[in-house]
Amino acid sequence: MARSDKPGMIDGFMSVQAVRHQGDRAPDQKPAKDAPAVEKTEASQSDSAQPQKKASIGHTALPSRHELICYSCGYAFVVTGALNKVFCAKCREQLETGDHSIEGEWKQDIRTVGKVHVKQGATVVGATIIATDIVIGGDCSQAKLQPTRRIELGTGAATPPGLLDEHPVHIRAGSRLSLTTTLRCKTLDVYGELQATAEPTGMVTIHPGGMFRGRLKASHLVVHDGGGLSADLNITPEAPAKQAPKAGTTKTSPSKPAGVRTPAQKAKTEKPAQGASAKKTVASKKAKRTTSPSKTAPKRSSQPKGKKRTSKPPPRKVE
Ligand SMILES: [Zn+2]
Repeated sequence: MARSDKPGMIDGFMSVQAVRHQGDRAPDQKPAKDAPAVEKTEASQSDSAQPQKKASIGHTALPSRHELICYSCGYAFVVTGALNKVFCAKCREQLETGDHSIEGEWKQDIRTVGKVHVKQGATVVGATIIATDIVIGGDCSQAKLQPTRRIELGTGAATPPGLLDEHPVHIRAGSRLSLTTTLRCKTLDVYGELQATAEPTGMVTIHPGGMFRGRLKASHLVVHDGGGLSADLNITPEAPAKQAPKAGTTKTSPSKPAGVRTPAQKAKTEKPAQGASAKKTVASKKAKRTTSPSKTAPKRSSQPKGKKRTSKPPPRKVE
């Protein structure tokens, strides 16, 4: 260091350095510049073995947050911290909070605001299961299931008829599921592989790693990058296009509305369904039809393309 210039003078920085080195020479000789950076990241986790750091404030662990739905009254509320004794914020009932994992044969009723996981190969017979989320990997066709939030299906899932109709459904990541009956549900989120004829009433989302094959009739579809789709599609937004379903395929003139564009019109063009249909084309091209079942007639695949375009005319009319 350039101390030779003025032997008697030490500036502030140097004195600090000197004191530091005095203290922890042997153990902590590492690059002094890098050290603080490392400490920061460590301290934020749970490291307290830093004598240099006086009163480290990086120790603010946020209490965990739980979104609960009361199985008694259906009220949804949030609880922070540990779930020791939880009372419904509305009906004041004390709620069970544990998660359950079911293997083998199960006959007992369960009520919890946690999650119940019926493992692959397990069978639930005659029991009523009420939970926030119910994960089904086994045979639950003889059970009474009441999820307050959603149902997750895994490989080997068997559900009682009609169960899924009123619920959001997730197809679990890593699962492979082939359904023989038409899947009717609210929203459908595909994280795994699903082969089915599906008619969800809500949004269909194919997540990265997810794959849908078969037939899909829905009003909204999103295929994320990394998600696959190889299906006979009918995506028809409900409200704005009453006429759209069958007739009107000829009035496709997306190039026409070159005129004035009011903000209102712009807003209309940004309907989620259109973004979805654009993505859909990409995805369906990407996804190779590997297990093309003969019943999903290939010629149908031209239909949705026509329909897809019909969703564009509405904004033009408004001009
Ligand atoms: Zn309640």
